[in-house]
Amino acid sequence: MQTFLEEVNERINGVPIQRCYHCRKCTAGCPTASYMEFNPNRVVKMIQNGERDKVLRSSTIWLCLSCETCITRCPNEVDIARMMDVLRQMAIESGIGARERNVLKFHEAFLSGIKMGGRINEPMMMVQYKLKSGDLFSDITLAPGMFLKGKLALVSPRTKDLKSVQDIFEKTKSS
Ligand code: SF4
Ligand code: SF4
Repeated sequence: MQTFLEEVNERINGVPIQRCYHCRKCTAGCPTASYMEFNPNRVVKMIQNGERDKVLRSSTIWLCLSCETCITRCPNEVDIARMMDVLRQMAIESGIGARERNVLKFHEAFLSGIKMGGRINEPMMMVQYKLKSGDLFSDITLAPGMFLKGKLALVSPRTKDLKSVQDIFEKTKSS
């Protein structure tokens, strides 16, 4: 039977995470590390120790912004952002989901937006998120100001090769 470490490495399909020598450069640059239950490099250690349940139930994997600062700083090219993605997917597949209220709904709305247009259309994504979460009015007053400052586009351009993006969703669904 595969260990937790082997399973994560197989899904990352890149540099094995045991290349990490815990220099903590990833954690030092991570914009959300101070809010996380476990620092990014600590998660690597926990995976090596086989702490599957603790990792998949932790808020850390849902607080990662996928900004990729960590991999740009890592001297060993350990792809922490990809690792967090893999862990989120494993948590969903294991029926654990996310501990933080509504974070999974935001995640679903984000992915659904990418699947539909190949890139994010913020207003559409917010509509989807609000419908899924039932949190309809909490930050509605921010929208006009954001439109005026050009932070929200009504119509977002679609990715030219949408089919390739949708193929990725199909492939990851069946793998
Ligand atoms: S920067 Fe890379 S080597 Fe350093 S702790 Fe993070 S993952 Fe490990
Ligand atoms: S991708 Fe995630 S773990 Fe890496 S620096 Fe960004 S927020 Fe932190």
